[in-house]
Amino acid sequence: KSKENGKGISTLFNDEMNKQLKTKIRLEELLRSSLKNNEMNLVYQPKVSISNRAMNGAEALLRWNSRELGSISPSDFIPIAEETGFILELGDWVLQQALRDLSDFQKVLSSDFEMAVNLSASQFHDKKLVTRIEQIIQTSQINPSTVNLEITENMAMEESNKAIDIINHLKELGLSLSIDDFGTGYSSYNYLKQYKAKYLKIDKSFVDEIPEDKSSGLILKNIINLGHILNMEVIAEGVETEDQFHFLKSSNCDIIQGYYFSKPLSKEELIAYGRTD
Ligand code: C2E
Ligand code: MG
Ligand code: MG
Ligand code: MG
Repeated sequence: KSKENGKGISTLFNDEMNKQLKTKIRLEELLRSSLKNNEMNLVYQPKVSISNRAMNGAEALLRWNSRELGSISPSDFIPIAEETGFILELGDWVLQQALRDLSDFQKVLSSDFEMAVNLSASQFHDKKLVTRIEQIIQTSQINPSTVNLEITENMAMEESNKAIDIINHLKELGLSLSIDDFGTGYSSYNYLKQYKAKYLKIDKSFVDEIPEDKSSGLILKNIINLGHILNMEVIAEGVETEDQFHFLKSSNCDIIQGYYFSKPLSKEELIAYGRTD
């Protein structure tokens, strides 16, 4: 299908560069056809309250199972989707699919069950973001207060004046926000305060080091306190062990997300998990 490059162009590249370029172009092609080939699906990771160990919501995480390449991690394909602009179509699909499943979770589990969906940087800065989301929410007939959008600390802090505008528009739709991967970037506490996010999600890299590393432990406790001072509920990401759980519990962390409770699950598995917890 793709036309061969003229000889003139190809001599500009040595073999290795040529190969890399072809791989990348092929990857972009495969990614663009992933949705119509039904290769994308969502899995859901429970968010569990530390105080009563009840699941009060889940985060939607995207999975690409390519017929040609096998399963590819979102950390690898999201940046490519961003570069090519495909992320906007993909992002709409994620939100639609997540809200369709949320409607079932709310019927079967609890009417206030909450769904968190990740936004990428170009989705966040897309001029049509608010209209797109408004439409998807209307069609889904989901109560917007049960939808939580995750943006990373970096996305929130770059061009902060623009960010605060976007965030205010999203809030007007009735949605809530999470600050994701917190601790890995630079935050202005002045902005963090204005964003009034519902959740502060502490990055896994801090959780990994507790309880052994004393300074990570102290940083963690202080992030939890900071979150509470700013009226946010604090979520620890990537909790895997009993020791980590107990440390976070005694540090007044609110919510846990991690393999200690559950890996990301299929829709059916999440319902089963929610029914027995
Ligand atoms: P994230 O939003 O910070 O999601 C948390 C990641 O940590 C997920 O990886 C999750 O599976 C993993 N995780 C959770 N608990 C544990 C644990 O106890 N141990 C370990 N080792 N890992 C744990 P995943 O699903 O591979 O996603 C990676 C990143 O890709 C996400 O980080 C998010 O930034 C991005 N992503 C995933 N789905 C989407 C999506 O639908 N849209 C966008 N824009 N980005 C997405
Ligand atoms: Mg996230
Ligand atoms: Mg994160
Ligand atoms: Mg992350």
